[in-house]
Amino acid sequence: MLVQIAGVQAPEQQHAHVFETEHGFHVLIVDGSRVYSIEESIADRLRSDGAAGVLKEIGLRNRTFVTDDAPETIAVRSLSLAVAQKCNLACTYCYAQEGSFGTEPKNMDREAARRAVELLFQNERPGESVNLAFLGGEPLVNRALIAECTEMAAGIGRDAGVRANFSITTNGTLLTAEDGEFFERHGFAVTISLDGIGEVHDRLRPFRGGQGSYARVIQKVRPLLAMQQRMQVSARVTVTPKNLQLRETLDELLDLGFHSAGFSPMLSAPSGRDEMDAASLQQMLQQMIECGEEFERRTVRGERYAFANVATAIREIHKGTHRPYPCGAGGGYFGVSADGGLYACHRFVQDEGAYFGDVWQGVNHDTQSRWLRERHVHKQSPCSGCWARYMCGGGCHHEVIHRGRPACDYIRGWLDYCLKAYVRLQAGAPEYFA
Ligand code: SF4
Ligand code: SF4
Repeated sequence: MLVQIAGVQAPEQQHAHVFETEHGFHVLIVDGSRVYSIEESIADRLRSDGAAGVLKEIGLRNRTFVTDDAPETIAVRSLSLAVAQKCNLACTYCYAQEGSFGTEPKNMDREAARRAVELLFQNERPGESVNLAFLGGEPLVNRALIAECTEMAAGIGRDAGVRANFSITTNGTLLTAEDGEFFERHGFAVTISLDGIGEVHDRLRPFRGGQGSYARVIQKVRPLLAMQQRMQVSARVTVTPKNLQLRETLDELLDLGFHSAGFSPMLSAPSGRDEMDAASLQQMLQQMIECGEEFERRTVRGERYAFANVATAIREIHKGTHRPYPCGAGGGYFGVSADGGLYACHRFVQDEGAYFGDVWQGVNHDTQSRWLRERHVHKQSPCSGCWARYMCGGGCHHEVIHRGRPACDYIRGWLDYCLKAYVRLQAGAPEYFA
C-alpha cells in the first residue's frame, strides 16, 4: 500500500521552503540555498503571510544570488566521447536505442576522437582541470580508442599543468583485469550500469540473445572492486516500475564492495517501455527515504554507507549550491558523436535539436548562447515558481524535452527529505561535515 509522504510542498512557495525536524523549525531560503533554524512563530508567518515580505522583515532576503541573466558562452571543460555507438546488450528502455542512437552501429572515428581531446584543452590554463568521459553504446567495444585518448589527454595535461580527470560508464560485461589496471593507473571513476540484483537485472538488461547479464557483470567487476585505490568503481541503478526494491539492492551492491551506489528514475525511453509513472515514483521516494534513513543511522555511528544520492545532496546543501541549470549540458559539457558532432550531452547524441557544431569547428556560440538563454530555469514552467528550482535546476533537459516534468513531486519530496537529513546530521554527526 502506498503511504503519502508528509512535507511535500506545492511549487508555488517561491521564496522559502519551511520544514520541521525533531530539532525544531527550519527554512530553506530558495535564492542562495541557505538553511536556517527559525522559531515556530516565524515558520507560521512564512507559511501564511507569503514569504517574500517576512524574509525581508527578518533580514534574510538581503541579496539576489540567481538573476535572469544567462551567460553568453561557457568554455568547454568536459566532454563525453561516444567511442562506440553500438552495444552488446539490449536493455528494454535504452535512451540510445541499443547504443546506435538510431543510426548505423559504428565505432568513433579516430581523428574525431583526437580532435575532441585537443578541443578539451583549448582554453585551459595551468592549475585548471578538465573531464574526459567515455560512453556509448558500450564504450569497451572500442577499448583501443579509450586507451589512445586517455594517454593523449594525460600527456597534454601533464605538459600544460592541467589536471585531466577520467571516467567511463559501462555495462560491465566486457571488463577485463587489464582494463582495471589501466583505469587504476589513470584514476578513473568507473560507473557500472545495473538494474538491480540477479533476475530483476536480467529481465531489464538482457544480452541480445535474450539471456541475463547479471552473473557476467559481477564476475567481470569483482577484480576491479578488489583493486580500486585511485580508481573508484560505483554502481548506478536505473529504476523502473520493475525494480523498486531499492534498499535490498543498495545493501547488496555495497556489500559487494562498490565504492558507492545510487539510483535514478527512468523517465523517458524512446521505446516508451518501463518509464516510471506517478505511483512508481511515489513508491521510489519512500524507498529512497528508507535508504537515506539507514545512511543517517550509520553516519551517526561513524560507519560508511555509500548511498550516493543522499551523500551528494547533503554535500550540495552544505555548500549552498544554487544554479539556474540542472547540469553542464550545452554549457561547459558536450557529448561527442562517433563522427565528431558536438551535442548538448551524451544523451542528445545524433539529436539535431541539440547540435552545437563539431570537434573541428568547435562550439557554435550563437547556438550555445540561445540554449543557455532558453534553458535557464527562470524560463521554465512551472519551475520559475518552484521552491526547489535552484537545487533541481529545472530537471534533466533531455527528459524534459522528450517527456515533460512527470517527476516534480518526487524531486521535491526527495529534496525535502535531504534538507531534514542535513539538519539531523549537523546535530548528530557534525564530524561528517569536516
Ligand atoms: S523540474 Fe524541478 S524546478 Fe521545475 S517544477 Fe519540477 S521540481 Fe521544480
Ligand atoms: S541533460 Fe540530462 S542526461 Fe544530459 S547531462 Fe544533463 S542531466 Fe545528464
